[in-house]
Amino acid sequence: MMGVASGGSRYCARNYEPLPVVLARGEGAHLWDVEGRRYVDMMSAYSAVSLGHAHPRIIARLTEQARRLSVPSRAYYDDRLGPFLEEVCKVTGLDVALPMNSGAEAVETAIKAARRWGHRVKGLQRPEIVVASGNFHGRTTTIISFSSEPEYRDGFGPFTPGFRAAAFGDLAAMEAAITPDTAAVLVEPIQGEAGIIVPPHGWLAGLRRLCDQRRVLLLLDEIQSGLGRTGAWFAFQHENIRPDGVMLGKALGGGVLPVSAFAARQEVMDVFTPGSHGSTFGGNSLAAAVGLEALHVIRDEGLVERSRQLGEHMFRRLAAIHSPALKEVRGRGLWAGAEIDPQFASAREVCERLLENGVLSNATHHTVVRLAPPLVIAREDLDFAIDRFEEVLVEILEPRGQRASAPGGLFVAS
Ligand SMILES: *Cc1c(COP(=O)(O)O)cnc(C)c1O
Repeated sequence: MMGVASGGSRYCARNYEPLPVVLARGEGAHLWDVEGRRYVDMMSAYSAVSLGHAHPRIIARLTEQARRLSVPSRAYYDDRLGPFLEEVCKVTGLDVALPMNSGAEAVETAIKAARRWGHRVKGLQRPEIVVASGNFHGRTTTIISFSSEPEYRDGFGPFTPGFRAAAFGDLAAMEAAITPDTAAVLVEPIQGEAGIIVPPHGWLAGLRRLCDQRRVLLLLDEIQSGLGRTGAWFAFQHENIRPDGVMLGKALGGGVLPVSAFAARQEVMDVFTPGSHGSTFGGNSLAAAVGLEALHVIRDEGLVERSRQLGEHMFRRLAAIHSPALKEVRGRGLWAGAEIDPQFASAREVCERLLENGVLSNATHHTVVRLAPPLVIAREDLDFAIDRFEEVLVEILEPRGQRASAPGGLFVAS
């Protein structure tokens, strides 16, 4: 295993620090390493694999479409993009959509739309965008320009101007950050990479009112929170609002491809004219076919309701854990952040111990363990993962010297 792993490390840029496991296969909520050990996936590739690994309908559609047509380019019409974007508009409740590939590109698209709308519709000279501190919207130079995370920014300047940050979840702070130059407010409804931070109830609805009063666009990044993750199709539905624009990604690719989109009200999207924006691969036939199938699978399998119900079960179980090492559990649906007290262990150490016990998770923000399984996870697999989590929380309370040795080698494949 380590041969494969070190081969990967020798030639791979060191922009990630993977857990010590080499994965070779995935199916549903399970992953297998090169030695055949099976793990329960409690991470789902940051929600990119919300439908589970190798979903049969996704794989069937992927292979069928790949044989027909994959990348015709946007220089022509094709027979897949229209139906896909129609469904994106139906599920988001918005009018028009622009397809891209990565999440960051959907965010860049939203930023461009907001700026052009600011110039051309609102008549601003220097349109500004208000964002939340602690945000994560991707890794482009413009997007990291409004990150508050030193790790994401250090050494990558000069930065793109035109952004103003206010405290997440604080309506008064957002109100104070809006100026006559503001074109849009861009936020995650629940902050993912910041550590699964849930704002006070009513904050989004408050933002909606504020944006209406000040003629500012409300743009929501639902790349991680959307498509069922929180127990609703979109997190904004928990507050019954309609944003002016939404960014989708991750799960939209069915767990097999990068597929993203920016969906918006007509007036916002109309600022794009031929030649003003684009992407060679964005909205290609293969991506569109898979994206449409992903949306249909979520609907047909009732994954949104499943996320809500299993999520309630997960939070009930997590709330019943009383450990001095567990400071807080936050989240909604099948999306939890467990805050670990660093005096007992780092979140990374908890994830390493979970790995040794057959559960794959990952740390965000050094102190938070992310528990976000594929929405198709079986209840017993979810319970297995939470049982292991509970055990690891007990283990890390023992003084370091007395800790039992890792049972990694004993874990049995099935
Ligand atoms: C992952 C993520 C992005 C960026 O998506 P990429 O596909 O990695 O570019 C943007 N916003 C949020 C909220 C995300 O979680």
